[in-house]
Amino acid sequence: MSHTNIKLYGTDWCSDCKRSKKFLGEQRIHYQYINIEENMEGQAYVRELQKGGLTIPTIVFEDGSVLIEPSNAELAARLGLETKAKCDFYDLITVGGGPTALTTAIYAARDGYDVLVIERSGLGGQAGITERLDNYPGFPEGVTGAEFAERIIEQAKRYGVELLSAQNVVKVGNDLDAHFVKAESGNMYRSNAVLIATGSTYKRLGVPGEDDFIGAGIHFCATCDGPFYKGREVAVVGGGNSAVEEAAFLTRFSPKVTILARGSELQANKIAIEKAMTSPQIEVRFLCFHRTLAQQPAFQRYCQTGCPGLHYDRHRLPDEH
Ligand SMILES: Cc1cc2nc3c(=O)[nH]c(=O)nc-3n(C[C@H](O)[C@H](O)[C@H](O)COP(=O)(O)OP(=O)(O)OC[C@H]3O[C@@H](n4cnc5c(N)ncnc54)[C@H](O)[C@@H]3O)c2cc1C
Repeated sequence: MSHTNIKLYGTDWCSDCKRSKKFLGEQRIHYQYINIEENMEGQAYVRELQKGGLTIPTIVFEDGSVLIEPSNAELAARLGLETKAKCDFYDLITVGGGPTALTTAIYAARDGYDVLVIERSGLGGQAGITERLDNYPGFPEGVTGAEFAERIIEQAKRYGVELLSAQNVVKVGNDLDAHFVKAESGNMYRSNAVLIATGSTYKRLGVPGEDDFIGAGIHFCATCDGPFYKGREVAVVGGGNSAVEEAAFLTRFSPKVTILARGSELQANKIAIEKAMTSPQIEVRFLCFHRTLAQQPAFQRYCQTGCPGLHYDRHRLPDEH
């Protein structure tokens, strides 16, 4: 189901607004956010809808219908997402709906197995929320994460894979000579086999503004996304092996890589440290902490850090508007 004109009225400090925005983002559903503290017309409209009330988030859909402070389940139902499977028993159930699960599902379904994919947020996994995949064979021009995800989803559907999203799996086990998978909604499904493909999670800085830049300025994989920053300065947060090795890798593209380490020394192995400290392209700053990531009016983004004197500017990606 495609949605073209959804308006979310809320404020920046409202946690339910953040949750709803995150949910819509994960489902790759476009919406317009109206901050009712800044937009008085928007505020008046919410008051009018609620006969003087001002409960947020207030979400207005293209057909004029309204949800006030909805749960994720209510949002999923309103968006027409499949949240309950058609059968109770499958040959294979995957927990997670990222590329690993979807690829497995396609192969299994192609061999004639009944497959159910259960995803807690949006189908496509981390690849689906990535701005651009540039290293995938068969896509010489690169492909946006959203398009990549849509393509795998379409392929899975073509083979009859059943797909559920917005369904958090809370329990997996065995009974009645089969495996079972239980979703947070209480729905329980059984199968001959279960694939747990829940991916990995990256450690975050946990600073305000961070979420807005993931995949568009903040990345977790230098091999995947480093080439986007050819000729540009980049910063790597961390002081362990991964950070130092990723920094060394980034010098292939970037004229200057600044390592922002929290401690007073690097924690990587000796060889990696030596390489970093002797590279003319790498600068290491110690005792850094991270305060904010914000967007300036001119679309220039900056990361204000606690490193004395350091104000790291990042300019737009080549294909950003
Ligand atoms: C910003 C960014 C940029 C990237 N760029 C590239 C790139 O350019 N090229 C490239 O090859 N790779 C890239 N990657 C890596 C790529 O996205 C991952 O390798 C890939 O998504 C891994 O697939 P996966 O299915 O194993 O895991 P994931 O994509 O992590 O999928 C796991 C899924 O399981 C779901 N899940 C977790 N727990 C539960 C539960 N209890 N119940 C139900 N569902 C659950 C999660 O919501 C998630 O959707 C990038 C990653 C990120 C974050």
